[in-house]
Amino acid sequence: MSEYRGRFAPSPTGPLHMGSLVAAMASYLDAKAHHGRWLVRIEDLDFDRNVAGADQEIIASLSRCGMQSDEAIVWQSQRQHLYEAALKQLGEMVFPCACSRKEIADSRVRAGLQDSQIYPGNCRHGISDGRLARSFRLRVPEGAAACIQFHDRLLGMQQQDLSTEVGDFVLKRADGFWAYQLTVVIDDAAQGITDIVRGEDLLDSTARQLFLQDLLSLPHPRYLHVPVVVNEVGEKLSKQTGAVAFDRGDNDLLRDALLPAAQFLQLHLEGEIETIEQFWKSAVPAWARRYL
Ligand SMILES: [Zn+2]
Repeated sequence: MSEYRGRFAPSPTGPLHMGSLVAAMASYLDAKAHHGRWLVRIEDLDFDRNVAGADQEIIASLSRCGMQSDEAIVWQSQRQHLYEAALKQLGEMVFPCACSRKEIADSRVRAGLQDSQIYPGNCRHGISDGRLARSFRLRVPEGAAACIQFHDRLLGMQQQDLSTEVGDFVLKRADGFWAYQLTVVIDDAAQGITDIVRGEDLLDSTARQLFLQDLLSLPHPRYLHVPVVVNEVGEKLSKQTGAVAFDRGDNDLLRDALLPAAQFLQLHLEGEIETIEQFWKSAVPAWARRYL
């Protein structure tokens, strides 16, 4: 298993909270349990949400927890030529879309699909004269070709019908920013990632990513989705839901952050754990017992 390559890919929208620490820890432990490499990639393409300095803060917090990228860290903002090339490679599968959010919502109502999140297909066959392309979408097939199945290492067989559950999805957004679904696929392949370990909130994106990998002749990584940390009212931890930084500069990261994250991942740690070094020594075999 020496070729194992995993990654953690945070967005620099603020300091890491417990939810992101759990995702970082899961991907790190899976890489170490496989004697593989663990890479950090900064997903900084949403220029409206980036917070100056948050990337360096994230890297420092990971490092204080004992997690260091095994290779040079990459920033997605420096890789936009790769996404542009992929969009070109997809050719006719991509079409320009002129719809505003409101137009999409109105077309759904007209089609009796108001409860659906899928794109109603307005611009599939071209945009009318005088209208401008706002975003670029990927044409999703119909019938059996739209049905994507995959095996999750923890959750087992998964299935999603892209035509009825997703619709033609955005690759380049109306604000000009690259969409997550495209960039994650390009960078995982460019970095030779073999195993993706991340939160269950991204389970729903996996079928889109597998579909894009096929269209671009890229290999499929293996997937493992771990549970997501939620607050008292059941919301995923995020800056929007008021999650606090786990690293407050002077707090005890072992007791405040690492041990609770390991407990959330149901790791049964053995031996004396008084230091961060002892923590990882115990957590790697505990991960292997629970997840491999
Ligand atoms: Zn449209």
